[in-house]
Amino acid sequence: MIIHNLVEEHVMEGYETLQKHFPGYCGCEICRADVLVYALNRIQARYVASQEGKVITEIQLDRHQNRTDIDVILMDAFRRVTDAPRCGATGRSHSQA
Ligand SMILES: [Zn+2]
Repeated sequence: MIIHNLVEEHVMEGYETLQKHFPGYCGCEICRADVLVYALNRIQARYVASQEGKVITEIQLDRHQNRTDIDVILMDAFRRVTDAPRCGATGRSHSQA
C-alpha cells in the first residue's frame, strides 16, 4: 500500500496553473520550493492509502471547497515569493532582455 497525500497533488496541479498569473514570479527551484512549502504548511494534509499503481478516484477532495482554499493559499504564496524571492531575483526585469 502507498500512503499518498491528496492535498499535495492538488497543490502541485494548482502551482502549474496559477504561476501563469504571476508574470513577475521567478520560478527557479528555490522559489518553487518556497511557494510549495508555504502552501503545504498551511493546508491540512489528506492522506489516503492505495495499492501500488492504483489510483483511488472515489476518494477525492471535497472538490470545490477545498480546491478553492488551496488556490487562495497558493496565490498568497505566489504573491509573497514574487515580492521577496529568496534567490535574489529582481522580479519583473528578471527574464526581460
Ligand atoms: Zn527564484
